[in-house]
Amino acid sequence: MKSVLWDKLGALLTFAFGLVAALAWNGAIIAVFKEVFGTAENITAMIIYAVIVTVVAVLVIIWVAKIVKRTKEEPPAAATKECPYCITDIPLKATRCPNCTSELPK
Ligand SMILES: [Zn+2]
Repeated sequence: MKSVLWDKLGALLTFAFGLVAALAWNGAIIAVFKEVFGTAENITAMIIYAVIVTVVAVLVIIWVAKIVKRTKEEPPAAATKECPYCITDIPLKATRCPNCTSELPK
């Protein structure tokens, strides 16, 4: 349940950050390229701009994916216990072992 929530939150954050970052940096980076190359319409400037934006987007996606992966690595809660008489795995709620029929201590 918690990891599903983080999955959705991760996807939303990735999209939201990408959109916000694109809007925030678009004008600034184009202005910088106009200073450096004279015009932002230059193919070289546009390609460099696209590469920079792609690198930033990939880094953020990797960062969010690491957080999502970390939340998935929580060990699942134990659903079984070990019978003290025959040493087999039995359901946690069992009061009698299904394998050796021994009555189990509470
Ligand atoms: Zn047993």
